[in-house]
Amino acid sequence: MKMLKQEIYFPIIISIHFIFWAVDLYFYKGSFMEVSSDTLLFGELTNESWKNTHRILGEVFSSWVVTVFAFNFLMATRAKWVEKLFGGLDKMYLIHRRSGVIAVVLLLLHFIVVPRDLVEFNPGKPLGFYAFILIILGVILSAVPFFKRKIPYHKWINIHKLMGSFYVLAVIHGLMVNSLIKELPITRVYVFGMSFIGIAAWFYRAFLFNLFNKKLKYTIKTVQNLGHGITEIIMKTKADKLEYSAGQFAFFNFPSISKKEQHPFTISSHPYDNELRIIIKGLGDYTNDINEKLSIGEQVLVEGPYGHFSSKYVKEQDQIWIAGGIGITPFLSLSKDLHPNKIKLFWCVYNEKEAVYKEELETISNDNPNFEFVIWSSKKSGHLTVENLNLNSYTDKAYLICGPKSLKDNMTNQLIQKNVSKKYIYDEEFAFR
Ligand SMILES: Cc1cc2nc3c(=O)[nH]c(=O)nc-3n(C[C@H](O)[C@H](O)[C@H](O)COP(=O)(O)OP(=O)(O)OC[C@H]3O[C@@H](n4cnc5c(N)ncnc54)[C@H](O)[C@@H]3O)c2cc1C
Repeated sequence: MKMLKQEIYFPIIISIHFIFWAVDLYFYKGSFMEVSSDTLLFGELTNESWKNTHRILGEVFSSWVVTVFAFNFLMATRAKWVEKLFGGLDKMYLIHRRSGVIAVVLLLLHFIVVPRDLVEFNPGKPLGFYAFILIILGVILSAVPFFKRKIPYHKWINIHKLMGSFYVLAVIHGLMVNSLIKELPITRVYVFGMSFIGIAAWFYRAFLFNLFNKKLKYTIKTVQNLGHGITEIIMKTKADKLEYSAGQFAFFNFPSISKKEQHPFTISSHPYDNELRIIIKGLGDYTNDINEKLSIGEQVLVEGPYGHFSSKYVKEQDQIWIAGGIGITPFLSLSKDLHPNKIKLFWCVYNEKEAVYKEELETISNDNPNFEFVIWSSKKSGHLTVENLNLNSYTDKAYLICGPKSLKDNMTNQLIQKNVSKKYIYDEEFAFR
């Protein structure tokens, strides 16, 4: 199946909803009625049949919220088949982030539009209100850049995991209150089925994930400070080896730093190598001075592999690779892949001294006439542009970009202006939130 890219994910679920709602409403012969209901902005409704737009719209919004969040919880399970649908775990987390924000907008619309029954008290109503407030707060803390900067990732992820319990409250609210959904056979099965999937996925991720996810045990062979905040770690194992493709990443847990925290790093060794190599740039609490926190012989737990930034998924033969700073890591592995592709790699660094893998890449380039390697120093030549790629034609190639967001956005926009279709531009996200 073709990858379910973010562009078509929402239209698909919107269309499914429309079909189910349309079929159900067409055949609906029931007598659902607003005897006396209140709406937030549109006043009181008395003796209105189910056909009133507030009722239908309000509930359509809620069914979208349920589905979008259910997909979000599914994404968080890191299941291989879900990752495949969304084109890589890094892409999936990006969609997860956007979906959360869209779900909150839909939730607000539901809250504004849906009529509230005034005839009898139902505990589902206050429950729904609490769920609404908690979900809004949860998404603000999860998505607003200010909080993302202020709250360290390991604390943030614990707050984020609470979203599932808020979702459970929202689903219980849906089960308790009077609603049209409960009267519509297909929509009812769909909405409550999706909410069951969402809750099950959250429960699995929050409580069972570590039980079912086998982590491979490696020990540290060397830890080397390469300067410029970069540390190279080489690991070995006597037990099961990680099976991965060049360019993929895995989650690494160094129990001596923290038993709980797991961080994603690209595997920059090649699958044929006996040892596993990762290269880490100090960017925060965990990664700063990591060379001083780790010692030889220590245990490392590895979970993976993940990601589609790999020769397994990129099929075009003529490829331009663009790395920014530590974004070189997947290319160190990919450049050792024995395939007939024609490659031109640009490594963008501030000054040439930061290109600590220059010699390794030059050796590969000397041995392989199909592999050209250029170091691009922005101190000397300014930021890389598509003109600097020095290509006769832009449209018959694949472009693989890994590095800071600004580099990726910049190069992608310039390539699109040169009529390169987005499907030939592959990139890797180095951040999950
Ligand atoms: C697919 C992928 C591949 C990566 N490969 C490399 C690599 O080869 N070399 C390298 O130096 N860096 C890589 N990174 C980035 C690296 O994971 C982060 O720099 C590191 O986790 C930062 O942790 P910190 O606590 O030191 O910094 P913080 O300042 O706490 O975090 C900085 C940012 O890193 C992300 N992050 C932090 N902790 C985690 C976590 N546990 N799980 C997921 N994301 C987290 C968050 O977006 C956070 O905002 C990769 C990231 C991803 C997503």
